[in-house]
Amino acid sequence: MSARGGVVYLVGAGPGDPGLMTARSLALIADADAVFYDRLIPPGALAGAREEAELVYVGKQPGVPSVPQEKIGARLIEAAQAGKSVVRLKGGDPFVFGRGAEEGEALRAAGVEFEIVPGVTAGVAASAYAGIPVTHRDDASAVAFVTGHEDPEKTETALDWDALAAFPGTLVFYMGVKRLAENAAALIAAGRDPEQPAAAIERGTWAGQRTVSASLGTIAATVARERVGAPALIVIGPVAARREGLAWLERRPLHGRRVVVTRARAQTSGLAATLRDLGAEVVELPAIRVEARLDTPEVKSAVAAIGDYALVCLTSPNGVRLLFEALTEAELDARALAGATVAAIGPGTRRALAQRGIAADVVPERFVAEALLEALAGVEVEGSKVLVARAVEAREVLPDGLRARGAEVDVVALYETVREQPDAAAIEAAQGADYVTFTSSSTVTNLTEALGERFPAGARVVSIGPVTSDSARAAGLTVDVEAERHDIDGLIAALLADAAR
Ligand code: SAH
Repeated sequence: MSARGGVVYLVGAGPGDPGLMTARSLALIADADAVFYDRLIPPGALAGAREEAELVYVGKQPGVPSVPQEKIGARLIEAAQAGKSVVRLKGGDPFVFGRGAEEGEALRAAGVEFEIVPGVTAGVAASAYAGIPVTHRDDASAVAFVTGHEDPEKTETALDWDALAAFPGTLVFYMGVKRLAENAAALIAAGRDPEQPAAAIERGTWAGQRTVSASLGTIAATVARERVGAPALIVIGPVAARREGLAWLERRPLHGRRVVVTRARAQTSGLAATLRDLGAEVVELPAIRVEARLDTPEVKSAVAAIGDYALVCLTSPNGVRLLFEALTEAELDARALAGATVAAIGPGTRRALAQRGIAADVVPERFVAEALLEALAGVEVEGSKVLVARAVEAREVLPDGLRARGAEVDVVALYETVREQPDAAAIEAAQGADYVTFTSSSTVTNLTEALGERFPAGARVVSIGPVTSDSARAAGLTVDVEAERHDIDGLIAALLADAAR
């Protein structure tokens, strides 16, 4: 399924957790010529958009002049009429307090085709993440989504407080913080039990989601005291008390911990996603960027002679990815490695090879160059051609060791890791971090140089292994945690063990 030109897709992006975006929303974003997006869309929601796609922010922020609704409609129409496939991306579901209907009607009036892609609405998702079932066999046979803050231009309220007070089920108020005191009082005045359980859920499904519990009679004071801010939902009904037995988010091992990830952006996703799944708030502060170097004479001649190598050593997933890019460019494929023994430095590299149809022959127990060399002890290399494909700035341990055993070694640098200047907002977010993770010496050197005095004080330093730890100490850091297994899984295990102390 691909996005059609001339069509506007009104797409719900879900409540904030990127994992709650629908498959269809991601496919449409990946395909769109233009994406018009709101403020409350998940982090990284646009990461899959095409490089040429036009990304236009049309969000509203309290107290800040924003793009008027008619203007948004006009821009959608204009883009669609120019033949573009247009995604209009909104938080949650486009039809739940999302003004999706107005935009759809404007499109219809202009003769522009549209499709509606529902999203997971905050009322359901934030409640679920808070451990509050919006319906329950014993406690709630119905649920009402209510706006707590109507269009400020409306003079008369459309809310029927008597009906809401008598509603036989859960009340979920969106936009409910600002007028919470008045609304709670109105419900109680209309006869709703002030003792009824209530909860406020702030930043539901985002990193740092927070829930406060109270009763209907005390929720406004509690929210004020705890400074619950937007976006937040108010849930009122007996189900709110079920949280006591159903809260789960807070039980995850890294809940409430802020962890800085310093890998290159293209590599962070796995580490960052796992840490998030474990409950951490992840700050991505990429200190390095991987720059391919596939146009060099060494790469070209190695690829041209790829069939001559008896042994091919890969020392990172990036190396695997780029070797295959170079093979593809030369109109070759995995079969080019058919005759060679293939060695991978660790499980990440092994996985990258497996994804391309190559089962690595040799993977050491410890994931450093010395161990790979040892693991290769049983492979006869004397007089054979060996290819070591790696980064420009790697250590010489492996090629030197293989040469000492009589191999004819070609070292080919497929990429260079260059410094990435971290952005100011990420540096700010990193300040309160509990952990800073380092996965290589280059991330240590570049980050400490880039941050200087702004290196988060008080954060515990987690290193992937001894080489990285040495670099950290050389940069003046104290290494608090060193992984026993020198790969990403090992780093995560070490961090978890430390957090459980
Ligand atoms: N279309 C959206 C709602 C937009 S109205 C949806 O379907 O979810 C904006 C209101 O939604 C906010 O004021 C807040 O009450 C609620 N909201 C949106 N995202 C939220 C979140 N992550 N956590 C808690 N409430 C949220």
